[in-house]
Amino acid sequence: MLWADRIAGEIVKTRKPRDGKTFLIRDEKTISGRVHVGSMRGVAIHGLVGEALSEQGIANAYRFEINDFDPFDSIPGYLDAEKFKEHLGKPLYAVPSPEPGYANFAEYYGDEFIAVHKKAGFTPAYYRLTELYRSGKMDPLIRTALERSGDIRRILKEVSGSEKDESWLPFSAICEQCGKIMTTRSYDFDGEMVGYTCDRSPDGSVPCGHSGRVAPWKGTGKLFWKAEWAAKWVVNGVDIEGGGKDHSTKGGSRDVANHIAREVFDYEPPFDIPYEFFLVGGKKMSSSKGQGSSAKDMSDLFPPQVFRLALIGREINQQIDVDPSGDSVPRLYDWYDELAEAVRSGAVDDHSRLYTFCQLPEDQATLPLPWQMRFREVAFIVQMPHLSLENEAERAKGSTITQEEVLAVNGRAHYARHWLDTYAPEEFLYKVQMTLPKADLTGAQKKALGALADFIQGDKRSGEDIHARLHELKEETPIAPKELFQAIYRIFLGRDSGPKAGWFLAGLPHDFVITRLSEAAQQL
Ligand SMILES: [Zn+2]
Repeated sequence: MLWADRIAGEIVKTRKPRDGKTFLIRDEKTISGRVHVGSMRGVAIHGLVGEALSEQGIANAYRFEINDFDPFDSIPGYLDAEKFKEHLGKPLYAVPSPEPGYANFAEYYGDEFIAVHKKAGFTPAYYRLTELYRSGKMDPLIRTALERSGDIRRILKEVSGSEKDESWLPFSAICEQCGKIMTTRSYDFDGEMVGYTCDRSPDGSVPCGHSGRVAPWKGTGKLFWKAEWAAKWVVNGVDIEGGGKDHSTKGGSRDVANHIAREVFDYEPPFDIPYEFFLVGGKKMSSSKGQGSSAKDMSDLFPPQVFRLALIGREINQQIDVDPSGDSVPRLYDWYDELAEAVRSGAVDDHSRLYTFCQLPEDQATLPLPWQMRFREVAFIVQMPHLSLENEAERAKGSTITQEEVLAVNGRAHYARHWLDTYAPEEFLYKVQMTLPKADLTGAQKKALGALADFIQGDKRSGEDIHARLHELKEETPIAPKELFQAIYRIFLGRDSGPKAGWFLAGLPHDFVITRLSEAAQQL
């Protein structure tokens, strides 16, 4: 059984919606810069569990928090550090957008992230964390947390081993003088006001030294994050919320939040779905440049269905690893095509189920199943300016292609071109050499190429014809197959490997092929 169906089943068996009607599913992301594709795994897992529940007629709603209130704690490598360093330590909503047209930093990068959700067919209802605070909805929970800070300190110590001194409060005030939140320490809650001093300097943020008292309501500060996590469950009425494995260890932040929810807020924590990482090229996070590892960069490599497969194809306790600079991109397309083949063969199993979930929600009932040309072939053909993609697709399919299939193959061509222009490794790049490269051919190689030129000269030959002739030439010349094909790749592509030679040559302009073969046969 596919993980989403299994989890939906467990939820139905063990939980009732808290409001008696609709299961509330929640996920969130702190928008501290361009969002890594790893965060899309949570978006997809929560979304898919919702889709599996809906299919069973179980009412559910999906809320996604754009966290715009956490502190700006590091400057991403692609931004001008000089320009942004004065903002270190401020809440994200108070940091300017790097581009004009957006209210703040979190809105700018949040917008890009939301567009990726939409493309992948996940459409939660969004809210900003600042709205939750400014509306006053968090106030009763802030009061409880402040009044019971002793219990929260005890839980932190017992569950995670972290010790806070007795004056510590689970609240960070925004400094009224410098606007920073990461630099303040709060103490002395008198029932209405909290005292704070702006004197901390974590992660390079600079405090101003101001001390004051502030009423901790309506967004003048925020709860310590592990207490805040629990408070957000209460305010939203969350029934289902998973988290990445970095939060899910014993004594980890989820464990602490669960204890705070039960013991301080008297709230049974949501159904948990702990999940593994989505790695890019074996690494959890990007380099500072972040090329290829953002949700946007990754989604640009795939149509929605294949992107969904990347996100949901593995069991949630298995790592996903996609390396756009290796062969994972064509392998994902191949995997998708195998699922489609399973559906075509009439299988009703995990493969066909996964294919269904790869479709956008609106297509899951009708299940579009166009014939698709293999991505690797598409990626080759788009590099051959003399080849027509549609003709080649028809040839590969062996019959006329439908309008839907034309769209599918052109869609793949768009993604293939983008991949070839950005991350594709050398082995996938084919460039026909306009003049004969220095090929260092042996006598046997030249002899075989000359014979091939004569054969092609005779008539317009198909890929099959040339393929058959190449096999005869191995015996006639004689020449080892590897040497024969290497000679062809060297003289046309300037490299030692390439696509199926017969069809490759048949696709090139006839006279060009003859001239090149003859030149090579005579090369000194
Ligand atoms: Zn300050």
